[in-house]
Amino acid sequence: MERVDQAADEILGRGNKDGASLFRTWFEELTDVAESGGQAAYVFVMGSMGEVLRVFDLPMVFPEINSLQTAVRRVAHEYLNEAEDYGYSPDICGYVKADVALQLRGGDHPMGRVPPPTLAVLTNACNTYIKWGEIWERMYDIPVFTLDVPGTRSAAGQTWPGDPDFESDRRYVYAQLQELIALCEEVTGKKFDIDRLREVLDEANRMSRGWRRALELNRSTPAVFNALTDGTIYLGVANAFRGTPEGGRYFEQLVEELEYKAQHRIGTLSNEQHRLVFVGVPCYPIFRRFNELFSEWGGVFISSTYLWFASGGTSLGFEYDLSRPLESLSEGVLISVRHAMDSMFYQDQALVQLCEEFKADGVVYHPIKSCRTVSSGLADNRRVVMEASSLPSLFIESDMMDKRVVSEAQLKNRIDAFFEGLNSRRLQQLES
Ligand code: SF4
Repeated sequence: MERVDQAADEILGRGNKDGASLFRTWFEELTDVAESGGQAAYVFVMGSMGEVLRVFDLPMVFPEINSLQTAVRRVAHEYLNEAEDYGYSPDICGYVKADVALQLRGGDHPMGRVPPPTLAVLTNACNTYIKWGEIWERMYDIPVFTLDVPGTRSAAGQTWPGDPDFESDRRYVYAQLQELIALCEEVTGKKFDIDRLREVLDEANRMSRGWRRALELNRSTPAVFNALTDGTIYLGVANAFRGTPEGGRYFEQLVEELEYKAQHRIGTLSNEQHRLVFVGVPCYPIFRRFNELFSEWGGVFISSTYLWFASGGTSLGFEYDLSRPLESLSEGVLISVRHAMDSMFYQDQALVQLCEEFKADGVVYHPIKSCRTVSSGLADNRRVVMEASSLPSLFIESDMMDKRVVSEAQLKNRIDAFFEGLNSRRLQQLES
């Protein structure tokens, strides 16, 4: 018994603690780069191309993560106001505006100092990425590389290796990767090293296996992690540490923790009553409180589309073939970034399936004012999912950055009514 307690002490809560610590280290390293005038690549969560950039030892800056951190730390409004005073419209993506203000402040961020870009790497996963890259191009006169990933073109979903369409799309991505490598060689003055790429891909594989398994483990009842709160920590590590030994080890240890919880039926919430799926981007200005509005009713988020698209589709668990690294990387990028795009635009069938497999009791849709990419079409999506399943759903609107459009009282009213409905539905089911 004592041994079990000791194991529990060592394992439980490790994922959150280590994730927070890795993140602090990451910001400290960025601060060092900023202060020493080193190079940095600006990248995005949907297709960071970290696997290539690591080969050139280019530190990566994720402006989306920097921006959301200003909201979690409750200073986003200062950055948004500054960018709006500078001329950016209140309507556009809040992440962009927080980043513009951060650049105007010389990289000053609540967690450290962010270095300016030496180059930027974008994908077409969000149209805002492309306009955002143009801002840095104007500010710093840096090269901006846009990787064009062909999206899914059929209602039947994306194509797979062996399919002629897939193979021609893969060749298209492969040719672009070669251009990116040439650009990195030019910017850093380093030669591309295929063996180093193999090492990075090997670590990325370790992470992908762990990430996929961690997501699967939330089929357990009670759920072993909260997709909204704990999941956001895992997501940060999945992006910032992809392709590193620290990232691979983190996910292996996370799986160990979650396996332990599943085996001992230890839930992330002690009184789990309702298993929910979250669709959209979290409400970062009141991040903790937003979750409490659900957890106070025994509601726990067992999965979310956010964990799919904001990990660049690596949640699928694609593993690279190290015997043909570049070909396999182009395959993995195509499959994963497409999955990220489909998770935003065409997630209805995947949601219906997930709800069945994870025994969900309801779906929470959270469209937000300043991210049209994720929020457009969610009302239609909800209708389709509701027609295909009998699950109750909630549709609440706020923002991921701008506290001026987050009304906690209004959210609470809607959420309370949703849970009252869930409870009476359960009662009726018990009585029938
Ligand atoms: S996906 Fe949304 S939040 Fe992210 S950059 Fe695009 S518009 Fe902004």
